[in-house]
Amino acid sequence: MFPRKAPLYRKVNTTAHGVHHAKGGNYRDQRNSKARGCYEQPRETMHGRRRRGLDYTPLFKFLLANVGRKWNEVHAEAVSRLDRPDPIFWLVALHEHQRRPYVLIGESSYFSGMYVDADGLLQLVDPSMGPSSLVPLCRCCTHTFNGLPFTRPFTGLRATVEPGGSGAA
Ligand SMILES: [Zn+2]
Repeated sequence: MFPRKAPLYRKVNTTAHGVHHAKGGNYRDQRNSKARGCYEQPRETMHGRRRRGLDYTPLFKFLLANVGRKWNEVHAEAVSRLDRPDPIFWLVALHEHQRRPYVLIGESSYFSGMYVDADGLLQLVDPSMGPSSLVPLCRCCTHTFNGLPFTRPFTGLRATVEPGGSGAA
């Protein structure tokens, strides 16, 4: 019953991730109280999205690569290559009120929000979103959008700037 294709998740080396802030970061930044929020967040919670030490980045990239395809086919393949289906719906909104232009996974990995259109095709909620749309929440982590590093610098604000001019809420 093993999927024929590679799984859309991978095991996380939690030890390596855990030491990121402890010794891999820049100590000069730790005096900056504005960046402190990052250190306060226990890695175990992460919005519950890193449970069981699994990283679903391959799933998110699979979904992105299949925008415009028939959702029932994309969904069926994704389910066959996952340990559980719910990570699909972290990005793909089932209901209109759940649609978001972007979704934060863990501390600093952003991905496009998606939905299924009236023709049953997987679509991006806001195709204008990209690595230049948002600003990092802290100085010490590498923030990415769909796997690409942010192009804008950390500004010292603990607030995420909404995408300019897109009208997305
Ligand atoms: Zn950080």
